Amino acid sequence: QPVLPSDPFASLNAEQRAAVEHDIGAELVRPLLVVAGAGSGKTNTLAHRVARLIQSGADPQRILLLTFSRRAAGEMGQRASGVLQRLLGRNGAGSPITLPWAGTFHAIGARLLREYAGRIGLDESFTIHDRGDSEDLMGMVRHEIGLSNTAMDRRFPLKGTCLSIYSRVVNSRAPLEEVLQSTFPWCGEWEGQLKTLFGAYVDAKQEQNVLDYDDLLLFWAEMAGDPVLGPELGALFDHVLVDEYQDTNRLQAAILTGMKPGGEGVVVVGDDAQSIYAFRGATIRNILDFPNEFTRPAQVITLERNYRSTQPILDASNAVIAGALERHAKTLWTDKASGAKPQLVLIPDEAEQARWVCNRILEHREAGIKLTQQAVLFRAASHSAALELELMRRNIPFVKFGGLKFLEASHIKDVLAVLRFVQNPAGRLAGFRTVQLIPGIGQATATRLLDAAAQAPDPVAALEGFAPPARSKVDWDAFCVLYRRLRTPGLRWPADIELVKQWYLPHLERLHDDAQVRAADVEQLALLAGGHGSREAFLAEITLDPPEATSDRAGPPLLDEDYVILSTIHSSKGQEWKSVHVLNVVDGCIPSDMATGNQDDIEEERRLLYVAMTRAREHLHLVLPNRFFIKQQASTGDRHVYAARTRFITPAMLKHFEETAWLDAESRHLRKPVPESIRMMVRDRARSAWK
Ligand code: ATP
Ligand code: MG
Repeated sequence: QPVLPSDPFASLNAEQRAAVEHDIGAELVRPLLVVAGAGSGKTNTLAHRVARLIQSGADPQRILLLTFSRRAAGEMGQRASGVLQRLLGRNGAGSPITLPWAGTFHAIGARLLREYAGRIGLDESFTIHDRGDSEDLMGMVRHEIGLSNTAMDRRFPLKGTCLSIYSRVVNSRAPLEEVLQSTFPWCGEWEGQLKTLFGAYVDAKQEQNVLDYDDLLLFWAEMAGDPVLGPELGALFDHVLVDEYQDTNRLQAAILTGMKPGGEGVVVVGDDAQSIYAFRGATIRNILDFPNEFTRPAQVITLERNYRSTQPILDASNAVIAGALERHAKTLWTDKASGAKPQLVLIPDEAEQARWVCNRILEHREAGIKLTQQAVLFRAASHSAALELELMRRNIPFVKFGGLKFLEASHIKDVLAVLRFVQNPAGRLAGFRTVQLIPGIGQATATRLLDAAAQAPDPVAALEGFAPPARSKVDWDAFCVLYRRLRTPGLRWPADIELVKQWYLPHLERLHDDAQVRAADVEQLALLAGGHGSREAFLAEITLDPPEATSDRAGPPLLDEDYVILSTIHSSKGQEWKSVHVLNVVDGCIPSDMATGNQDDIEEERRLLYVAMTRAREHLHLVLPNRFFIKQQASTGDRHVYAARTRFITPAMLKHFEETAWLDAESRHLRKPVPESIRMMVRDRARSAWK
């Protein structure tokens, strides 16, 4: 029976409503910035606005929604759908709206570039290098032009540093000299060489028809700035909405101004106090400049009421951010006055920390807080190792975000390399990896072979005509048959990946002792691939936004089960849980002793702690192990350090916390080794989560 429309906007406060209703129905939608603190409903407001736009007649196909991760895009689309259903008075019966242009800047950039490739002199079969590939290519080029730190000077920056410098130059739109001075002063003496290197790196990418992450933004920005293409791109969208605007860089701002010089329909939301990606070139200048970035001045709305956390949690978080050098002129308030103060828990070491956290997690569950409403956050992915073991030991299921990626496993890389080599025969890294899977083909042969293929008009024929070493003959021929089939147009995706899998599995058996476990991963990859419409779409998406949760070591349980969330603070952005534990809230960790170089870095660490604390709705526990293990510092090696409370919580702030010291072993009897049966069970469950 019909359900009457209800007013889903009734719960919005006046400022949120103003943002949702901003220029609805107007001829021209002026640019709008919503700048507001954590948990004030920015994301929620954006979702309501999407629904309101569609209700008022906007075409969902013409809404561009830029978020920080694919997951965030999906969640926002769902929230908007829910609101719209209520607006229209449907009871979940109508089909939910889909926003075809919702995703990260990088993913949307990849799609636009694929569509516009022909127009900008790009071969549309380009493949995308992830960060690891980009580093490898940088290393290869460095070596080829004689600039490696072994060939030339041992002090020459490592390939990863070279890539970071290059990336910073591209993303900040600043000259190399300036980037070196401000961020990489110890590399300043190499300016000339780096310039040469970056030139060669850019040439290599072009020759091989590959793009790196930075290119996706760079080329998009170039198109957007073009007098012909810019307006064309801009005309694709009536509305451009951006969440987490504080973590965008200058290139991303240039994309917006290029597509929408007057800022028509551009609505961004962000919080300068939560800017945590400066290390990637993000800058709060984007927020500060937004009001005057376009030819039309932007409207600005601020939100101050927090709907997420209790007042004691807000008081403590506000105190931490108030200590910042830069003023973030916002103080949040809430009417959730009750609730305990956040806890500062002093603990002997990381093993005890793990036990203490597990105890609290179980207590919270007893008290009715589901595991999925509980999260444990940490500065670096490696910091949860002890906790993961303890969770396994107690049989508490968990999912970890932001850690080691599925794609980093060598067997997954192998399969993806084959697919990339099929898509783009000029791609050197993928080609190298692929042909060297064949026994008897080493680096030297691979080089000759790929050189020949690169110069030939028909790369498939060139490979078939190649005479491999005698002992490789059979395997080589089998590969050529596969390669020709995969390069033949008309094969339906995901049939390709089935063929690759069948070809690869015997090699896998030969290469690895634990082939069975790895084969299961390959199966999962094939399943994942089946969910995408084409090889290009699959490769682009998996490269840009790989599955986030880890399957290694412990791995995720079934998705519909109850499980605790483990996450790096960086990956926890935008989310909230009833209970939050933050591990290692000690100097050396927050701020990380990698980051204590300059004041800006340290301030970013403060904002990181603020982000972590403001994820909590009801319970916040900051844990401070007295002895804390630092892994693989380049200069000193692994070591234990005696740590002190983070400098961001000064003695004057202690009144906002409840301090507890926990020196005992509540649970020493639980320190048994993890039974193999548990390990295997967790791993098996991990498999089924890769849907
Ligand atoms: P962050 O800065 O962490 O990204 P945010 O500003 O995006 O936070 P949201 O995640 O949108 O905040 O909202 C925080 C919480 O407050 C959510 O649970 C949301 O549903 C709730 N909320 C937002 N606005 C209202 C409102 N007007 N009434 C009730 N709850 C609200
Ligand atoms: Mg948000």
